[in-house]
Amino acid sequence: MRIIKPSFTILEELDQQSLPVRIEYCGRICYKSEHRINDGSAIPFVKKMAENGHNSVLEMGVVTLIITCPHHDHIKDFFFLQPKFLQIDRLSDSALLITGSIRAFREMVLFHTDDAISQAIANFLNQKHPYFFEGLPLQAPHSATSGILVEKMDVQKVEQLSTPMFAKHRYLAVKFIVNRAVTHELVRHRPCSFLQESQRYCRYSADRFGNEITFIRPVFFEENSEEFSVWKQSMETMEKQYFHLLETSSPQAARTVLPNSCKTEIIVYANLLEWRHILELRTATAAEPSMREVMMPLAKELKSRYPRIFSSAPLTIS
Ligand SMILES: Cc1cc2nc3c(=O)[nH]c(=O)nc-3n(C[C@H](O)[C@H](O)[C@H](O)COP(=O)(O)OP(=O)(O)OC[C@H]3O[C@@H](n4cnc5c(N)ncnc54)[C@H](O)[C@@H]3O)c2cc1C
Repeated sequence: MRIIKPSFTILEELDQQSLPVRIEYCGRICYKSEHRINDGSAIPFVKKMAENGHNSVLEMGVVTLIITCPHHDHIKDFFFLQPKFLQIDRLSDSALLITGSIRAFREMVLFHTDDAISQAIANFLNQKHPYFFEGLPLQAPHSATSGILVEKMDVQKVEQLSTPMFAKHRYLAVKFIVNRAVTHELVRHRPCSFLQESQRYCRYSADRFGNEITFIRPVFFEENSEEFSVWKQSMETMEKQYFHLLETSSPQAARTVLPNSCKTEIIVYANLLEWRHILELRTATAAEPSMREVMMPLAKELKSRYPRIFSSAPLTIS
């Protein structure tokens, strides 16, 4: 068995990559198959995720769009649809700022086939990324969509938006290597997207896991204390039982004996507004100490990267 400290990585550089590359990188965390990433692997991977209905993987790439529409009725219709999981702001009488994940845009077009703005957005995205929209009810541009202009806003431009819009439209992924109790708490934050190493698919007796289970060192016990030695013995016993079960059972069956201390990897993807909320709750003294162990340094890091969002002043969202 291996014992490691918890850690986190802000995946900011991922935002410079194409949507399929970003989505593949995050998606492979579930299967711990990052070693299969190569120059041509992203598009087949994301196509497979769409076909298999592993839709949460398609949440791991967001795109920000400016929609200019001269028909006020189309804008009104779009607002009444309340498409789910999109951030929508009005830039002017005839322009909208919309940020959403590939999943959100796919479902927008699936559920609102007749809406002009939805169709114009889907056509725009389909031209650039047809593999995300295969089999969806797209309509070729027609009279209702004519005059609707869709443009992409890149991350650098998003960062220049007013503070409230920046907080809503700038998404950031953070990868945590923590124990299972911490991931269980993280996934309670509903506006986020998550992908997590799966104990159903990962067989820790395999060579690529070093033929051992990795545990997170508990923050609670001093390394040379009696409590630490009790904890360590329990983990050793657990590992033995897990490997014993694997001789006749699948990983999903054997994992039933695995404890909270198991190391797991999770990617949390959210806008800066939600990150601010998470950090407020998870750095407070009432928060669980193993959670604070990663959230305190993350808060410090985000404050230095995005001071206007993570400063102590309350954020007013219009
Ligand atoms: C110290 C601490 C102790 C805790 N103890 C427990 C416990 O004992 N048992 C337990 O079950 N949980 C516990 N939790 C989890 C807690 O109840 C929340 O589920 C978790 O912190 C997610 O936070 P949230 O609900 O504020 O916001 P998120 O889920 O992060 O959502 C962000 C914001 O979106 C809005 N929002 C999201 N979904 C909805 C919705 N459905 N309706 C209305 N508004 C919504 C709200 O404005 C919310 O503030 C604890 C959390 C902390 C920090």
